[in-house]
Amino acid sequence: MLKNNGKKTAISVVSTACLCLLLLVVAVQHLRVQVAQETDAGDTGTRSLLQDAAQEEEGAQNKKGFSAYITKLTRGRREVEKPASSSASAADPTPAEDITANDIFIAVKTTKKFHQSRLNLLLDTWISRNMQQTYVFTDGEDEELKKKIGNHAINTNCSAAHSRQALSCKMAVEYDKFIESGKKWFCHVDDDNYVNVRTLVKHLSQYPHTQDMYIGKPSLDRPIEATERLGDNKMKPVNFWFATGGAGFCVSRGLALKMSPWASGGHFMNTAEKIRLPDDCTIGYIIESILGVPLTRSSLFHSHLENLQQVSRSEIHKQITLSYGMFENKSNIINLKGAFPVEEDPSRFKSVHCLLYPDTPWCVPQVAF
Ligand code: UDP
Ligand code: MN
Repeated sequence: MLKNNGKKTAISVVSTACLCLLLLVVAVQHLRVQVAQETDAGDTGTRSLLQDAAQEEEGAQNKKGFSAYITKLTRGRREVEKPASSSASAADPTPAEDITANDIFIAVKTTKKFHQSRLNLLLDTWISRNMQQTYVFTDGEDEELKKKIGNHAINTNCSAAHSRQALSCKMAVEYDKFIESGKKWFCHVDDDNYVNVRTLVKHLSQYPHTQDMYIGKPSLDRPIEATERLGDNKMKPVNFWFATGGAGFCVSRGLALKMSPWASGGHFMNTAEKIRLPDDCTIGYIIESILGVPLTRSSLFHSHLENLQQVSRSEIHKQITLSYGMFENKSNIINLKGAFPVEEDPSRFKSVHCLLYPDTPWCVPQVAF
């Protein structure tokens, strides 16, 4: 009986142990599946990274090493994403360089006969607010002008004619004076241009001055076709874009220094003679054709060769240059109902100036009754 009882007890102990073992195995198995599922769910976002990592890293079998690897990869990906997101904002006018108006050399080309009729208007308007960075290049002595702007009036001693040679002679002096100034940007304008210096500064600060930059507006809708004189009576056709001088254009110091062999000293005149084209075309020839630097087009520069009526009042403060003149026997001016009527301000420059600098004493505030 006892023997029988002992046998029964032994059987029940063994079967209980087996059941426990079975339950334990099932529980462990369940736990394993759960852990595996949780790991899987947590990794879905980095699945492709995991696959790549598995191929690339042998030590990835070790869970600790693997998670460390994933952390490294994730950090790496974040690093890669950083410059991508900052380059996406390059379309914003994010300054590449913190420049001020004093970093710009503005050359105004004029001639003695226009000192009264054109230059005085500029001196009373935009130049009055930007004396430090503006230089006037002319062809005759003028004591009145010297009194107003001192050594910023530069007599080039070039001929007063409107000839190709005379204009290139002035541009050559403008270039040399800019190099001598040490400033970061060279901008050239005519004496029938209004320069909005605040917008110009903002625009140029998008580019490092050490990079090769040539910014302006082409006057033609296709590259100019010219003939290069090579000596020995040989000729070579050349095509290039150029920024029209009548709308103004800018060149970075980095690029201007590279132009030196063709633009400094007497070289500019020789280069201009090689293609027999005016000063602004010669600039384009040196930059695009010889140095291979493309013109960066900007629609913010305006000459009187375009229809200026298309510049709207609300957009005026965004423009870099404006102009006025005649086109097909009709006056070509911007459409602005400003501080002065057209009879008193035919170029509209006084009204533009009052819009941009309303604190100017002679800008009578517009009072609405
Ligand atoms: N200009 C000059 N010498 C001249 C005639 C004009 O330096 O004998 C200058 C003028 O002061 C202006 C530029 O050349 O800055 C363009 O002249 P204009 O506006 O009369 O002619 P456009 O080419 O614009 O029709
Ligand atoms: Mn003009």
